[in-house]
Amino acid sequence: MTIGHFVDGKRVCGSSERRADVFNPATGRRTGEVELASAADVAGAVEAAERAARAWRDASLSKRTAVLFAFRELVNARRERLAEVITAEHGKVLADAAGEVQRGLEVIEYACGIPSALRGGFSENVSTEVDSYSLRQPLGVVAVISPFNFPVMVPLWFVPVAIACGNAVVLKPSEKDPSAALLLAEWFAEAGLPDGVLNVVNGDKEAVDALLDHPGVKAVSFVGSTPVARYVHQRGSMAGKRVQALGGAKNHMVVLPDADLDLAADAAVNAGFGSAGERCMAISVLVAVEPVADALVGKIAERMARLRTGDGRRGCDMGPLVTAAHAAKVRSYVESGIAAGAVPVVDGRDVTPDGEADGFWLGPTLFDHVTAQMSIYTDEIFGPVLSVVRVGSYDEAVELVNANEYGNGTAIFTNDGGAARRYQHEVEVGMIGVNVPIPVPMAYYSFGGWKASLFGDLHAHGADGVAFFTRGKVVTSRWLDPRHGGVNLGFPTQT
Ligand code: NAD
Repeated sequence: MTIGHFVDGKRVCGSSERRADVFNPATGRRTGEVELASAADVAGAVEAAERAARAWRDASLSKRTAVLFAFRELVNARRERLAEVITAEHGKVLADAAGEVQRGLEVIEYACGIPSALRGGFSENVSTEVDSYSLRQPLGVVAVISPFNFPVMVPLWFVPVAIACGNAVVLKPSEKDPSAALLLAEWFAEAGLPDGVLNVVNGDKEAVDALLDHPGVKAVSFVGSTPVARYVHQRGSMAGKRVQALGGAKNHMVVLPDADLDLAADAAVNAGFGSAGERCMAISVLVAVEPVADALVGKIAERMARLRTGDGRRGCDMGPLVTAAHAAKVRSYVESGIAAGAVPVVDGRDVTPDGEADGFWLGPTLFDHVTAQMSIYTDEIFGPVLSVVRVGSYDEAVELVNANEYGNGTAIFTNDGGAARRYQHEVEVGMIGVNVPIPVPMAYYSFGGWKASLFGDLHAHGADGVAFFTRGKVVTSRWLDPRHGGVNLGFPTQT
């Protein structure tokens, strides 16, 4: 099966000969190939979007929201099918894929309420018989470039909001799991979205570069690894575009001595190994403030012994990694952790999966006595590897978190409200959980990290998303009245 593009309301093949293989990670078998768009393919999609954007910006708010409500109904009714498509190409277990669809649906629902979010302000009589009011208008054509780990949720962080604001979109999904994005585009069309308002081009760096350089693309929302996010932000900004580029993460969970250790252990296991650690909000570092480490590590290991790794369709807890190359890379981190002197309490290389032998398997791995110099600490591994760093005090814990280059998410586990409050105030991270290990903001707040986890300033969805996909205007108006005639070269002030 060859997976192509979706341009101007229909599935199309591109002009490029280049292809990438798509796998089912649970079987290790190639299930298809995806076309890798050329710059000409991208230009075709941008042109279709430019044509559509002209009319779509003038569609009334009721017409736009009618499409979004209909799209919401389709995704809601077909959520299981979407979850199956995610699991088939990504590998995450079906329940987790369903959770991703749910979080995406919430952004569609937020976008259904766009008339409230787009409301401007009005001031009467800012000067005598002069009124002032603000408008927000769409940008035109915007690009969304998404990573492999959330093939539905991440596109839905941006696409519904951009469209509700009156823009046309070119979406470039990850080449590792491209099928779900095409379904979303088809369902949007079925919901009544005019041709060309949402286009999907599949591809790799060549397609991304073409989007970054194309003068018709006015803004880029990117999510992926930090080196690529930094590059996309720089190249897109140099080309005069508005760019928000969300990058990688190394999320710390701090456990204070007064925490409920059973709850903390449950949370560490759920947030460390859910989706095989392939989440930008996964907990990859557990900061145990002594004297809790021994007890906490014991409780986590106990829970890990009960986890079932295997095919996501078989009701297992954790699926495979996304590709053979990624599984090999994560495995090599396990080796380097052992070589550096970290203690492997649970070694995921020993796992016996409930699945086919050729799947891209690695079981949950727990390292104790990790230090800030080891590569398993400094690097984003993006796999089921949880590192425990032992510290002597709350202050040492905050210092460690703030010294880290990333600042996406973090959590603190404690029963001390004062300590939690101090942590949320002092920590240099964008999303904070208090006794909540994966503090992903709801759709009506905005999602984004600090430092090397986000280049740009506006976060995804919520009020920031609306600000990102629109430009502000302020109108100062006076309806003609002869009393206001006369020449005056002074700077306008209130009279
Ligand atoms: P990736 O950076 O490899 O790819 C992301 C996108 O960029 C894909 O569409 C890919 O085709 C494209 N791309 C890859 N290399 C490129 C290059 N050299 N030039 C231009 N484009 C390129 O990321 P991934 O492996 O698909 O996803 C995992 C990463 O995404 C992790 O680092 C994870 O933390 C991050 N992530 C971050 C968030 C967040 O909200 N901050 C959310 C999800 C994932």
